[in-house]
Amino acid sequence: MSVASEQSASTADRWESPQADRAVRAKPIFLPFLKTVAPWLGGLFLLAATITTLDWALGWDMQVVSRARTVFALVYMTNLIRYVVAAGGAFLLFYVILWRTGWITPIQKKLAAAPEMRREIFYSISSLTIFAGVGVIVYLGKASGVLQFYYGGNPLVDYYFWFSVVAMIVIHDAWFYWTHRLLHTKLLYAKVHRIHHQSHNPTPWAAFAFHPVEAFVQAIILPLAAILLPMHPLTVIFWMLYMTGMNVFGHLGFELFPHWFLRSPWRRWHNTGVHHNMHHRCVSSNYGLYFNFWDQWFGTNHPDYYAEFERVTAPRSKGGDAESA
Ligand SMILES: [Zn+2]
Ligand SMILES: [Zn+2]
Repeated sequence: MSVASEQSASTADRWESPQADRAVRAKPIFLPFLKTVAPWLGGLFLLAATITTLDWALGWDMQVVSRARTVFALVYMTNLIRYVVAAGGAFLLFYVILWRTGWITPIQKKLAAAPEMRREIFYSISSLTIFAGVGVIVYLGKASGVLQFYYGGNPLVDYYFWFSVVAMIVIHDAWFYWTHRLLHTKLLYAKVHRIHHQSHNPTPWAAFAFHPVEAFVQAIILPLAAILLPMHPLTVIFWMLYMTGMNVFGHLGFELFPHWFLRSPWRRWHNTGVHHNMHHRCVSSNYGLYFNFWDQWFGTNHPDYYAEFERVTAPRSKGGDAESA
């Protein structure tokens, strides 16, 4: 399917078909993945290897180089654990246990095929390398005094701490919406964001399935925000917990909010699983991450969003019944 046809997906053809499932199985995954990530990750490793070699060969013995390596390894492992626990846990609970009980129905007619999930895992694992690289940028920014992190005391009893957690979430939400709109412009969509949109029926494994450039754009908001917003390390952990939860929820393939959730305008400010699932099917609507403000203010909610949520969460819904949407 061409970019143009993906961008203009109509309401009539947005639902997954059995043919689409067979096409996924036939599509090669590993070579396109290597072609996309190898130049970027190769460049990153070349840069790291050059600095390490110069440090060793010229006898600089710079502490910052060895610490940066440790930071990279620590951030990579922490993020890998975060991904495996959150995405793997959600997959185990919803796709392996609950779905088989028949108590829950997926948002789309069928669950994604195994090759789709393998592709999502490949890209997510490669994104963790970029996140670890941004971890090194945060370390260097902190060491040079450009980024404002503070320590000590019990932050949980401090009003500023809770303000900083909310502020970080609101800032990231705005950053995500506008960079996401930018990623949907013709060139950036074709070159970068299309990787994430290869999942028409996303699973929790798609939480970090980005092109390396998109992974960088998403992660760099932390050091950018920390230039002006003083943060305790716990602020970052709280924000990451909410971010990971919402990311997995948006790609879960099942709706968790109750049937009545969107009936009050006061609750419509928060996004649902259906919201981002529709973004993967319809492409050119529903751009928001945590909140629905930006989509409401700029008229980018899909016109069928509320009706689709009602259909998916209806008590007797069998899920994926396109005609009733
Ligand atoms: Zn997505
Ligand atoms: Zn998108």
